[in-house]
Amino acid sequence: GFKTGIVGLPNVGKSTLFNALTRTAAAQAANFPFCTIEPNVGEVAVPDARLDRLAAIAGSKQIIPARMTFVDIAGLVKGASRGEGLGNQFLANIRECDAIAHVLRCFEDDDVTHVEGRVDPVADAEVIETELMIADMESIERRLQNLVRKVKGGDKEAIAQERLLKTALAALEQGQPARTVQVADEDARLWDMLQLLTAKPVLYVCNVSEAEAAEGNAHSAAVARMAEAQGAASVVISARIEEEISQLDAEEAREFLAELGLDEAGLDRLIKAGYKLLGLQTYFTVGPKEARAWTIAQGTSAPRAAGVIHGDFELGFIRAETIAYADYVTLGGEQAAKDAGKMRAEGKAYVVQDGDVLHFLFNA
Ligand code: GDP
Repeated sequence: GFKTGIVGLPNVGKSTLFNALTRTAAAQAANFPFCTIEPNVGEVAVPDARLDRLAAIAGSKQIIPARMTFVDIAGLVKGASRGEGLGNQFLANIRECDAIAHVLRCFEDDDVTHVEGRVDPVADAEVIETELMIADMESIERRLQNLVRKVKGGDKEAIAQERLLKTALAALEQGQPARTVQVADEDARLWDMLQLLTAKPVLYVCNVSEAEAAEGNAHSAAVARMAEAQGAASVVISARIEEEISQLDAEEAREFLAELGLDEAGLDRLIKAGYKLLGLQTYFTVGPKEARAWTIAQGTSAPRAAGVIHGDFELGFIRAETIAYADYVTLGGEQAAKDAGKMRAEGKAYVVQDGDVLHFLFNA
């Protein structure tokens, strides 16, 4: 599955946020039990109103949302790149994630100590980014040394790796994270395999006080400007509010949100932003038994999409009966869509579109 690592300096609200994420009613919704894989790893349901509509039309007994994994990566501090304390372990944890949710303290509270003695989220972001950039530079230099022999031997893959590593190193030496490097399509696979920490997509999570949850504040505005300049994303939430909401049932949560002038829980926005950041999209399988959302990367072909359900579906793929979400909903279900000629038989080359309702035919 797709994993997002939650990072940030100590005392910015990471644990509060993580606990809220994994305890929330949405995470436990719809017959899919929240599962604690490890104390600091949790799965959450991806909120998607389309799934509920499809289930209502088909009269599905069960609703199974898509899921995303969050990992609370505590303890990243200045010096982590030098392996101080448990630094190296934290960096290894980040390396395994597909994206980073970087929590920034945007709330003022004299009772909560700030490790740097002041509230300045843009400077905090730089502290962590610098650690990650140093770690990347060191690992690139190590890897370049290890490649020397293969490159001399004319190994094509090693030569390509060396070229990419040198490009990344040049950017890092200019103070730019690896995610600012433009990578050609044909290099994309090799680039991903390098697993550079600063190449991972970043979502800045501005943790503001309860009173500022709706509008944000000057700190979160500064973070939003920084994010835009870097091609990163940002969301404003109050971890405290989310923690309270996570202990309410759905109805109570709606009332509480309305009182605060919020139309959607911050966690829902956070989860959706993470999904978007990862370049993920959804297709649905819908029937009387269950309506289910499946996660794929944008640009995934029909056989590979089928493989997300089961490997045999991919191997024996024949075709995908496909109804666009809009057609399914406007026409009022599978049979109606079929009667209107809106059910397409798509083959191996078909690229699945966000919201497609699919039924796979395959050789067992
Ligand atoms: P972590 O070290 O980043 O995991 O931070 P924690 O989640 O443990 O939070 C550190 C402290 O800040 C705790 O005492 C939280 O209750 C407090 N805290 C977290 N979010 C907020 C917030 O939005 N406002 C205020 N005033 N305190 C918060």
